[in-house]
Amino acid sequence: MTGRSPILACEGIERRFGGLVAVTGVDMHISHGEIFGLVGPNGSGKTTLTNAITGFYPPNKGRVLLDGTDITGMPPHRIAAQGVARTFQNLALFNGLTVLDNILLGRHVHMRPSVFRTALYWWLSKPEEIAHREAAEEIIEFLQLQGIRNELVDGIPMGLKKRVELARALVSEPRLLILDEPMAGMNQEEKEYMARFILDARDERGVSVLLIEHHMDVIVGVCDRMLALNYGEMIGMGVPKDVVADPRVVEAYIGG
Ligand code: ADP
Repeated sequence: MTGRSPILACEGIERRFGGLVAVTGVDMHISHGEIFGLVGPNGSGKTTLTNAITGFYPPNKGRVLLDGTDITGMPPHRIAAQGVARTFQNLALFNGLTVLDNILLGRHVHMRPSVFRTALYWWLSKPEEIAHREAAEEIIEFLQLQGIRNELVDGIPMGLKKRVELARALVSEPRLLILDEPMAGMNQEEKEYMARFILDARDERGVSVLLIEHHMDVIVGVCDRMLALNYGEMIGMGVPKDVVADPRVVEAYIGG
């Protein structure tokens, strides 16, 4: 291959659950600095493809390459350590902890290997802890979370919780950021803020993004290219304005 490898390449990905083929024949790549959308009706295989990439459910067939390195079948924590961060459709924040502490937990991929590395991060040596705190404070400023940094996440509105999740993913300084419906449940203003932060993360921090989203307007506004799935198969890939006009994609959405 000439030039730089894509940050992510999926080659012939298939994942089955028993007799059910959840995803099959997925070939796609994400270039460095690209925001790449993944759409499809419920049950079309978006989460399964994401799980195949991140190691939660490794593919039964095909290969996943991260910046040219084969990561197929690696356990999720090793893939995370390679620079793949992920947010979840259902929030995965820790209630009872502050916004700052939730964001600090995102630094665990940079912490020294130890049995307690995720849970007992405060046992770290002082200089290391300072570096983690500085990284967290920098992200808090980037995502304009200063006003709620010491509040418990339990009580903050949904739109801000999603932003804290983004902060926790970004603080790990990922090369590839996977966002699973980051705008679900948001009002129009919150959606616009989130779209801006995703674009800024790419433009200012050089992060490449895989954005799973149900809303086509979001994808069209933010993504450089996109892939549409239906029943686990690719039904459209390319620039958003072409994909959303593709009769197969229109049909899948109207039918779905
Ligand atoms: P989407 O994220 O697009 O809504 P999913 O990837 O969650 O779609 O699901 C694709 C298909 O795979 C669905 O038919 C779903 O029921 C099935 N599926 C997903 N995960 C599992 C699992 N862990 N076990 C069995 N079936 C699953």
